[in-house]
Amino acid sequence: MIEIKKDVVLAPFTTFRIGGPAKYFTEVGNEDEMKEALSYAKENSLEFFVMGGGSNLLISDNGFDGLVIRMTNVSGSVSGEKITCGAGLMLSEAVRLAASNGLTGMEWAAGIPGTVGGAVYGNAGAYGGSMSDIIENVKILEIEKDGTFSAEIKNCGNSDCSFEYRNSAFKKNGKGIIFSVVLALKKGNKEEIETQVKDIIEKRKTIHPSGFSAGSVFQNPVVEDQELIERFERDTGAKVKDNKVPAGWLVMEAGLKGKKIGGVEVSEKHSNFIVNSGSGKAEDVIILTSMIKQKVREKFHIQLKEEIRYVGF
Ligand SMILES: Cc1cc2nc3c(=O)[nH]c(=O)nc-3n(C[C@H](O)[C@H](O)[C@H](O)COP(=O)(O)OP(=O)(O)OC[C@H]3O[C@@H](n4cnc5c(N)ncnc54)[C@H](O)[C@@H]3O)c2cc1C
Repeated sequence: MIEIKKDVVLAPFTTFRIGGPAKYFTEVGNEDEMKEALSYAKENSLEFFVMGGGSNLLISDNGFDGLVIRMTNVSGSVSGEKITCGAGLMLSEAVRLAASNGLTGMEWAAGIPGTVGGAVYGNAGAYGGSMSDIIENVKILEIEKDGTFSAEIKNCGNSDCSFEYRNSAFKKNGKGIIFSVVLALKKGNKEEIETQVKDIIEKRKTIHPSGFSAGSVFQNPVVEDQELIERFERDTGAKVKDNKVPAGWLVMEAGLKGKKIGGVEVSEKHSNFIVNSGSGKAEDVIILTSMIKQKVREKFHIQLKEEIRYVGF
C-alpha cells in the first residue's frame, strides 16, 4: 500500500537542489505499488511524473501540480554475465556490482549519478560508452495519453528501445515507465575493472564541479561548420567525433564561463555545468540558459538543445 503525501518540496530529491513542492508525492518499490500510484493519478485526474535520482532535472520553483512518483525499486542481482536491476537502483551501485563480480562493459558509467531507470530513459553515456551498449532487456509499464496503463509488464529488447545519442523510445514517446532492466556484460579481469572504475571516478573529480548541479545542461550539438571543428581541435588538442562539438566549449567561447544570475552560475571548471550556490532558483537557471542559447546562436549560428528535463513549467 503506497502512502500519498501532500505538498512535498522536491529540491532535496534533486542534485540541483532546486524545485518547489509536488502537490502529491509517493514512492513505489514494486509493480503493484506503481499500478496503485497510476490508478490514484487517473481517478483524481492528476498529471503524473516519474522521477529517479533527480540528477537530470530542473523543477520549477512552483513545483509540480500533480503526482510525483519516485522509483525506489533498488534490487540488483547478478547471474553469469547479466545483471538484473530495479529501475530505482543507483547506476553507481550497478557499476559496483559489475566490478565486484568481475564483469566488464560499464566502467564508463562510474561516477554518473542517478538511477538505472533514468540512465536508460536518457541513454546516459560517457567516455565512449552508453547504456545502449549494455542493455539486453527493459521491462516497462505502457501508459496511454488518458492515463490508462497496460495490465501486463512489457518486455523490450535493445532494438525496441530505439536508442540514440541521449535519447530512447521512452524519452521520445513518453509512454513507458521503466521498471527493471537486464544488463549484458562480459567476464573480465576484476582487478583491472576496479582500477578503471577508480580512475574514471578520479578523472571526473578533476573535470566536474563539485557543487549542486544537474550535470551537462546542453547536448553536444552536431556541427557542419568545418572551420569551427578545426578551431576546436586546434585550441583544445581534442578530436571531434561524429561532428559533435562540446557544448561547454561553445559556452566558454561565447564568453559565458563564470556568468552569474541570482544564485546560479556557469561553472568555472566546466562551462556546460550550471552550479547552484544553494540559494539558486529555477528562474535563475531559466534566465541563464536562455542567455547562453542566445549568445551561442549569435556567435556560432548553433541552436543548443537542453539535455536536462524541465518539470512543472
Ligand atoms: C555531476 C553530474 C554528472 C553527470 N554526468 C553525466 C554523464 O557523464 N553522462 C550522462 O549521460 N549524464 C550525466 N549526468 C546526468 C544524469 O546523471 C543522467 O542523465 C542520469 O541518467 C539521470 O538519472 P536519474 O535517475 O537521476 O533521472 P531523473 O533526473 O530523476 O529523471 C530524468 C528523466 O528520466 C525519467 N525517468 C527516470 N526514471 C524513470 C523510469 N524508471 N521510467 C521512466 N522514466 C524515468 C524522468 O521522468 C525524467 O524525464 C550527470 C549529472 C550530474 C549531476
